[in-house]
Amino acid sequence: MNAEKNKVVSFHYTVTGEDGEVVDSSRERGEPLSVLLGHGNIIPGLEKALDGRAAGDMFTVQVSPEEAYGLRNPDAKQRVPKKYFQGAQKLKAGDVTVLSLKDGGHRVVTVVKVGMTAIDVDMNHPLAGQKLTFDVELTDVREPEPVELQHGHAHGKGGHAH
Ligand SMILES: [Zn+2]
Repeated sequence: MNAEKNKVVSFHYTVTGEDGEVVDSSRERGEPLSVLLGHGNIIPGLEKALDGRAAGDMFTVQVSPEEAYGLRNPDAKQRVPKKYFQGAQKLKAGDVTVLSLKDGGHRVVTVVKVGMTAIDVDMNHPLAGQKLTFDVELTDVREPEPVELQHGHAHGKGGHAH
C-alpha cells in the first residue's frame, strides 16, 4: 500500500535547520509519528514528500520556508498581556514559549522583551524563513479507521491522544 491522501502513515523523522543543527527528531521520543495524510496535520512540503511512498522507504527531502513554516514577517512583533503566558514570571528575551490565543488555539512565539505587565513577542514561528531538511523513514502505511477520517487525524500509537 502506498502513502496517499486519507491513508495513515507512520514515520521516523529528523529535522535539521539551515545551520545544520537538529531541530526535532521522533527518534528522541522513540516512537514514530503517525498522521492522516492530506489533512494539514504536518507541513505541506512533508505531505508532498510522503505521497506515493511505501513502508520501508528512507529518504531525505529539503523543504522551502514556503512549504514549511512560512517566510519571516518582520512586522510580526506584538505586545501581549502577561496573563496569556504560562509561567510569565520566568520568561526572558530569547525564550521560545507557547501563547494561548483567545480562540482557544496555541502559538509558538519568541520573547523579545519582558515588561512589567506585558511581554513583547515575535509571532513568527521559530522556524519561519528556514529551509529545513527532513530525514524520513516510513515505517507503516495503513487504511484509517472511520473515526480517524471524521476527526481528520490519526489515533493510536504516535497519533492523536484524546
Ligand atoms: Zn480524534
